[in-house]
Amino acid sequence: MKSSTFRIVPIRTEIAEAARREAKAGAADHAVVTADSPGGFPCRHCLRWAEPGESMILFPFASIPRGRPYSEIGPIFVHAEPCERYAKLDEFPSDFRDGRVLRAYDSQYDMIAAEVPNEDGPEAVVERFLRMPETAFVHVRSVTRGCYTMEIQRV
Ligand SMILES: [Zn+2]
Repeated sequence: MKSSTFRIVPIRTEIAEAARREAKAGAADHAVVTADSPGGFPCRHCLRWAEPGESMILFPFASIPRGRPYSEIGPIFVHAEPCERYAKLDEFPSDFRDGRVLRAYDSQYDMIAAEVPNEDGPEAVVERFLRMPETAFVHVRSVTRGCYTMEIQRV
């Protein structure tokens, strides 16, 4: 029985549903695109790569809220059709073990550490960041495009 020290936090279902409503309403900042490659369209709600042919919504998401030095709004995908929110909250999603950078933030939303996992895997970095008492949460991002993937919190 493995006891995890962290909890995966996918985007909330309300955010995915709001993005679907906005896209249907034709909002200019909500683009509907068709995935055309197996590793280019990560859904931040079910935390898996879209299959080629699946319809995705691309929209801006505030991973760090306004009014902070590290405030950040950037593009994320969700499935255009309803999908099930990632539920294995004590397991790092297998689709995103590679090609990610992990960033630790404190309670003031200031970035205090960042690291690309080595062969020990992302859990080793997550656990080390969460052992630092000043860490409030960890963000996972694409190491190439920089886009936000998910948050990780301490259990
Ligand atoms: Zn999805």
